[in-house]
Amino acid sequence: MFHKVSRMIKDVLQIGEPILEKPTKEVTDISSSEVKTIINDLVDTCIAMSERSAGLSSNQIGYDLRICVCRRTDLEDQSNRESSSAVDDKTLWEVMINPEITKASKDESAYWEGCLSIGETEKDTIWGPVWRPDTITLIYTNREGEKKELEATDFFSHVVQHELDHLDGVLFISKVPNPEKNLWKSPRLNEFLEKNKEFPPVA
Ligand SMILES: [Zn+2]
Repeated sequence: MFHKVSRMIKDVLQIGEPILEKPTKEVTDISSSEVKTIINDLVDTCIAMSERSAGLSSNQIGYDLRICVCRRTDLEDQSNRESSSAVDDKTLWEVMINPEITKASKDESAYWEGCLSIGETEKDTIWGPVWRPDTITLIYTNREGEKKELEATDFFSHVVQHELDHLDGVLFISKVPNPEKNLWKSPRLNEFLEKNKEFPPVA
C-alpha cells in the first residue's frame, strides 16, 4: 500500500485521552512512511513549541508507536558554556525509535517536571518534582536508522526518562510524591521562583 509521507504541526493531546495511558507498540519497519510521518510531525511540533518543549512522544500526538523526540539539553548547556553558536534543530531534537534503558544508576536526583499533555498553555501547565535515576544508559535507533547507545545524566537523563515513561503509558504526575502538596500551577510556581530564586522544598 502506498502512503504519502507528510509533515504537520500537531495538537498535543491532553490528560484524559486514553492513548496517553496505553503502552505504545514496538516499531518493526523503521523505513515505513508511517514512521517517517511520525518523526516529521514530532520534530515539527517540538520546533513550533520550542519555548515549552523538552521532548514529545508519538502517543502525545495520536500515534501508537515507540518513537519519541528528546531535546538534547546536554548539548545546549555545553554550547552555552562554550558560547559557540546554537545547536542546529536536527542535533537538538534527537529522534529515538524503540528506545530502551539498559542501565540506571542507584543514585537518584529530583527535578521539577512539566508536560505538554498536562496544560494546554504555559499558564495552565502543572509542575511537580520527580525523583529518577541520575544517570542512565539507553539504546535506540536514530532517524537515519543507525543503532545508538547514549549515556544521559542530570536534567537530560530526566528528559529522556519522562519521554520513555510516555511510551509506556505513564504520566509524570503519577510519580510526584504527595501530589496534593507538590503539584504547582505555573503562575504560582513562577511567583515563588521569582521571590526565592529556587524551587520550593519537596513537601
Ligand atoms: Zn510529557
